[in-house]
Amino acid sequence: MNLRMRLQPEAIGTGMTSQRVRDRLVERLRENGIRDERVLNAIRTVPRHMFVDEALATRAYEDTALPIGHGQTISQPWVVAKMTEALFDEGKTPAKVLEVGTGSGYQAAILAALGLEVHTVERIGELLRTARKRFRQLGMNIRSKHDDGRIGWPENGPFDAIVVTAAAPALVDALTVQLAPGGTLVAPVGGPSSQSLLKLTKDADGVVTQQSLAPVVFVPLLSGMID
Ligand code: SAH
Repeated sequence: MNLRMRLQPEAIGTGMTSQRVRDRLVERLRENGIRDERVLNAIRTVPRHMFVDEALATRAYEDTALPIGHGQTISQPWVVAKMTEALFDEGKTPAKVLEVGTGSGYQAAILAALGLEVHTVERIGELLRTARKRFRQLGMNIRSKHDDGRIGWPENGPFDAIVVTAAAPALVDALTVQLAPGGTLVAPVGGPSSQSLLKLTKDADGVVTQQSLAPVVFVPLLSGMID
């Protein structure tokens, strides 16, 4: 075997997760309307290939959702960027965020990279354990718990921002209650075939307003917990 052939597999592996490949994803997000440089920078910095199975690592910087096991998916980068950007709209700088649906841990890592204090809840124990390993490897101090996230995390609230990464037929009241005045909640709302990414803001007096950001496809928000 000549040297070139021997080096090739490794060279491809490195190439597909290289900085150049990540920059290309960021350019694509920019072309598709993501404007917040802080968010684009977080996407550039956080190694998405660490949040998927090794066999899928070469596809980690495509703008697409990928399977993470248990019938769940790591969200599409554009959707992660869009949701994250919404939290920083109107000059807001949230400090404390709750995520419902840890999944791979990627969205939580993006929020942590932006300097937020992240609290995340996942109902599938095995996914949470894997995500926690990734947080440790990256030296990220993210608070997480194994629970049904539809009840939020009342002891740790209120939160300046809440990100729900699984779809429900309607906004969950318990979560809206845990949103601080001046805060922003983003959540996919709808059935399996048609969902809308909703942004809810609560003003200083507690009055809420709602707008639709984009059509999206998320896995469903389910009740109960499993190991
Ligand atoms: N934010 C994730 C997306 C994962 S997909 C990421 O970046 O990878 C949505 C996740 O929500 C799945 O892991 C699913 O198990 C979880 N989920 C669904 N219903 C839930 C609930 N009631 N409480 C907590 N997590 C839930």
